[in-house]
Amino acid sequence: MLWRLITLVFFQACAAGLGWFAAHSGDEWIMALSFALAGSFLWFVLDCMRGLRLLRWLREGAAADVSMGNGLWGEAYDRVRRMLRAGSRLAVESDNRLEDFLAALQASPNGVVLLDADGRIEWFNQTAAGHFGFDPQRDMLQHIGNLVRDPGFAAYLATRNFLHDITMPGRDSNASKPVKLSVHLHPYGEGRVLLLSRDITAVEQAEAMRRDFVANVSHEIRTPLTVLAGFVETLQTLSLEEQERQRYLGLMSQQAQRMQTLVSDLLTLSRLEGSPLPSVHDWVSVDLLMRQCEQDANDLSRILSALPHDLVFERAPGCEIAGSSTELHSALSNLISNAIRYTPVGRRIEVEFRLRPEGGAVFQVRDQGPGIALEHIPRLTERFYRVDRSRSRDTGGTGLGLAIVKHVSQRHGAELSIESVPGKGSVFSIGFPAHRVRHALAGSASVSVPHCV
Ligand code: ADP
Repeated sequence: MLWRLITLVFFQACAAGLGWFAAHSGDEWIMALSFALAGSFLWFVLDCMRGLRLLRWLREGAAADVSMGNGLWGEAYDRVRRMLRAGSRLAVESDNRLEDFLAALQASPNGVVLLDADGRIEWFNQTAAGHFGFDPQRDMLQHIGNLVRDPGFAAYLATRNFLHDITMPGRDSNASKPVKLSVHLHPYGEGRVLLLSRDITAVEQAEAMRRDFVANVSHEIRTPLTVLAGFVETLQTLSLEEQERQRYLGLMSQQAQRMQTLVSDLLTLSRLEGSPLPSVHDWVSVDLLMRQCEQDANDLSRILSALPHDLVFERAPGCEIAGSSTELHSALSNLISNAIRYTPVGRRIEVEFRLRPEGGAVFQVRDQGPGIALEHIPRLTERFYRVDRSRSRDTGGTGLGLAIVKHVSQRHGAELSIESVPGKGSVFSIGFPAHRVRHALAGSASVSVPHCV
């Protein structure tokens, strides 16, 4: 304000001085006064022009800096400029924060949709786009009810009771590949709603598998247990002849054995699922492994029938596989015992371990059994899946053998493949990768093979 007063006085004084000197003698005071007034007017015009400059600068968006000098307008310009700069800095910061926030929501594995108070889509992330089939260009500001047509969701949205989530099929869900979504709406702000969606297909499948597994195990145990309880009751209530008694005891022992095998296979599976992966530094001798399997195979073939199978074992001497000897033995003996159990007596079963020319090795069991129809093959490694239920039970099968083989193969980086022609026979192969197979070096320590699991 002082500067303004100084410039005004300065303008008036200069103009008055000019008037004084320009005046003829006698009218100096009048001239000085008139010039001072003119000076005040000039000062006022210049002052207004500076004010207008500031106004124009503001109207043009205050983009570029202008020079306003000192005084009231200069200070006003400076303060406005500083305020605007602070404001735009704040706007940039909050924009950045919003971008970070949206990027975090974008990275979320869950679907996120922001709805306005009328239920129109304001924003959604990629995951939500995948879950519901939204298109970022087409579907912004569309009402969610027009895009998500599931009746369950429509009812959920209409009742506005958002205490619980709902389960609904995903956009790509179909009978052969069902997709299940959990959708939960959360109100926030003034009538706005946050929609969270989660793909729970795997969780639902795991839960269904767990239920099936418990039901299957209960069923498998209940059958021999019922038989066993029946025989116990018979032995308790009836006075039987010794021969009959011995026959019943034999049948009871068979059922007990069946339960034991089942529990043993279940424990093997649970160990396979819970233990760390087999080492790539423990080398198992294939010779020892095959010799043990051959011994077990001959024993089993003799137990099942007086007329044994034609068992042929071919091996590549001096080979070793990196992994767990117990698990490998369990897998190989399961394949061999299947071949023996399902192949009619007297027929040929070939067991072979050979190196592949392209690297790695393959363990193969070829039989002349009944073969397996193509539609069963993808399901054979499922727990308790059996093609020939009665043959499996009669020969002591648990329905878990191939599930064990698949697990062991996966844990060793190997691949189980099954080829079969109904009426002709089957070939089960486990292909080991090159880094798990080597020729035994002189003096290298090989792991000894334990007895059949
Ligand atoms: P199981 O204990 O019943 O043999 P597996 O898991 O070992 O269970 O095998 C699953 C099913 O696959 C068997 O029930 C049988 O129907 C079929 N299968 C397995 N191996 C053979 C084979 N070599 N020949 C014919 N069928 C087989």
